[in-house]
Amino acid sequence: MVSAKQLHELQETDTVAAEKDTELKEVRARLADGKPIAAATQKASQLDAQAEAQSKSRNSAQVAVRQMQDKMKEIDGKLYGGGITNARELTAFEEERQFLQTQLGEEEDRLLELMVVVDDLQESRDDAVKALKGLEARREIEVPQLQHSQAVLEKELAQLAADRKQLTPKIPPQYLATYESLRKTRGGRAVARLDKARGICLACRIALPAKDLQRAKASREIVQCNSCHRILYVE
Ligand SMILES: [Zn+2]
Repeated sequence: MVSAKQLHELQETDTVAAEKDTELKEVRARLADGKPIAAATQKASQLDAQAEAQSKSRNSAQVAVRQMQDKMKEIDGKLYGGGITNARELTAFEEERQFLQTQLGEEEDRLLELMVVVDDLQESRDDAVKALKGLEARREIEVPQLQHSQAVLEKELAQLAADRKQLTPKIPPQYLATYESLRKTRGGRAVARLDKARGICLACRIALPAKDLQRAKASREIVQCNSCHRILYVE
């Protein structure tokens, strides 16, 4: 005798297995997902490269400023050292000094700007490195937890598969086929409980014809709902 109870049990097993399978897929996806760390690594290294490049420009500007300052001292030495008496020569040096002063002012402005840029970039890079370290530390804790969940879920799924193997030989192939096809088309729910008192299928909430209700209540054969075609199970 085929009992809807066995099909109901099979459905319970399959439903739990489907949930565990989804969970396992999520766990595996999270284990394989190295994207956040890869993105954080890339960001930190890009900022580091930018800070490095701007530091070089800042250093060049520092050298240029120093050279100009030295040159100024040299000119000042000549202008105010009393060695030059020729008026035309004095004018030429004064003009050169004027020109150099303008250049020096511009270079000093550029240096100041670069110093600010370098400071900002270094700060951003330090923040990015800190964020990356934080991600890596969290990952270090997360990975063993995920691996544990994975192992537990795999074990549970193996047990559920074994349970299924025990259940299916007891069910005639034609009912098993009906069950499988209904599971696919009825959102994983092939077996529905029957409300004996009210005579309704608890999946679609539609009343059964009296004749079907009698047959279902007798539980001697598999009865399907007249409306949604689910296999009816009487508790
Ligand atoms: Zn129904």
